Amino acid sequence: MALAIDLPFDEDHRAFPGKHASEYDKTDRETQMAWDFSTDPEFQEKLDWVEQFCKEEVEPLHYVFPYAVRSPDPKVKALVRDLQQQVKDQGLWAIFLDEELGGPGFGQLKLGLLNEILGRYPAAPQLFGAAAPDTGNMEMLAAYGTEEQKERWLTPLLNQEMFSAYSMTEPQGGSDPNLFKTTAVRDGEEWVITGEKWFTSAGRVADILFVMCTNGMFVVPRRTPGVEIMPEPRNHNYIKYHDVRVPLDHLLGPEDGAKVLAQRRLGGGRIHHAMRTIAQCKLAFDMMCERALSRESHGKIIGEHQMVQEKIAESYAQLRMLRLFVLETAWKIDNTSTQEARTDIAAVKFTMAKVLREISFNALHIHGSLGTTDLTPLQDMYAGAPTMGLADGADEVHKSTVARRILKEYRPHEGYFPREYIPYKREEAWEKFQPKFAADPELLASAESYRKYFANRR
Ligand SMILES: Cc1cc2nc3c(=O)[nH]c(=O)nc-3n(C[C@H](O)[C@H](O)[C@H](O)COP(=O)(O)OP(=O)(O)OC[C@H]3O[C@@H](n4cnc5c(N)ncnc54)[C@H](O)[C@@H]3O)c2cc1C
Repeated sequence: MALAIDLPFDEDHRAFPGKHASEYDKTDRETQMAWDFSTDPEFQEKLDWVEQFCKEEVEPLHYVFPYAVRSPDPKVKALVRDLQQQVKDQGLWAIFLDEELGGPGFGQLKLGLLNEILGRYPAAPQLFGAAAPDTGNMEMLAAYGTEEQKERWLTPLLNQEMFSAYSMTEPQGGSDPNLFKTTAVRDGEEWVITGEKWFTSAGRVADILFVMCTNGMFVVPRRTPGVEIMPEPRNHNYIKYHDVRVPLDHLLGPEDGAKVLAQRRLGGGRIHHAMRTIAQCKLAFDMMCERALSRESHGKIIGEHQMVQEKIAESYAQLRMLRLFVLETAWKIDNTSTQEARTDIAAVKFTMAKVLREISFNALHIHGSLGTTDLTPLQDMYAGAPTMGLADGADEVHKSTVARRILKEYRPHEGYFPREYIPYKREEAWEKFQPKFAADPELLASAESYRKYFANRR
């Protein structure tokens, strides 16, 4: 997105004539957008196929064989492979990857439309070769790996012959990468990695770990001597790296490039999470409406009570807003880049957590006691909302990013009063009319009487 002025905020503001926000907005690419909310029929056919496939094949597999994709049982593996082959035959495998990175290259908008179906079914992302944390790691490999690295790790990850994890957060503080200490030191033909990482999701079951060091991003096979996985937490692992030695070619991207790689990885990851969150919110919303029509209390169905209606109406509006925001952000990424869409990606990130929290709470509440049990997906969804506010960065950090980036597009006003100060506006308007008044004294008299009349009314 090309913004008009991108000066640092600490410039001497007074040097600028005050500019109204709308003057900056004009140069924003948004104003050139063709507003079209339809899906092309050919792609809609794919979406319809995905919907049916998920309902008829993916969901039953999940209820009988949870986590089937990771199962060592050859019979379960065969079931998984069969479904995955159907996905591949539809050209929908690894849909998150751009064409130049080896994927089908649908772009983020179409991916968003697909993910808002997949996100409803826990097993779907893996059956479509599009599950975190592998997706982000594959994206980094595809973008920054050498041909040899891609062959060694990307191809098996794409084929799910290998699984990965991402080791960035450290126990002393996750929000500020400047606090990270894990470092790699070069020793002859090897890098020696020392440090501790916290909350490496699925680290315990990963074949390779992407370890963010202060001086680069490294790929570490989990079984390398010196990798110690602590017993707790169970799923998001605390990993100690004790003088872990890897060959030189396990550095991914340039030396000292870890932050750039991490940004690339997390930017994509956040929008993918948001797309799947729409699906979760939609599921909660559908359940809420079904329940509101199915229960009765105090002489009417609960959907006729105004406070229940309020929850439905608010949830509906929030869901629509989230969906449009996510899809528009995906569209922006397609038309510019992840980097240029950063403000919106960050805003989507904290918005999705909030909307999920509110809609899942409303749905849970409308289900009464049943909502508090683990007999519906609602309890899990509601418990997952705080997670969405932390994974990929705490909401506050993203809110600060959004505010800082937005404020760069504005300038302070001159003097004591804002540019919308009505006496200023009036003065400017009178100046504009001076030539007309000079040519037409009657018009001037009319304006004077308007002025007097409204002054008396104040
Ligand atoms: C389910 C889940 C999966 C995760 N998976 C991974 C993974 O695979 N790999 C990985 O490396 N990490 C992972 N993380 C870690 C995640 O990236 C961190 O939790 C996140 O970056 C926050 O770091 P922290 O937990 O250390 O919180 P802290 O940095 O300690 O922050 C705690 C709180 O302090 C406040 N705060 C912090 N900074 C600011 C600020 N600048 N302004 C205002 N308030 C602030 C916020 O309230 C914040 O929630 C995962 C987290 C979750 C919840």
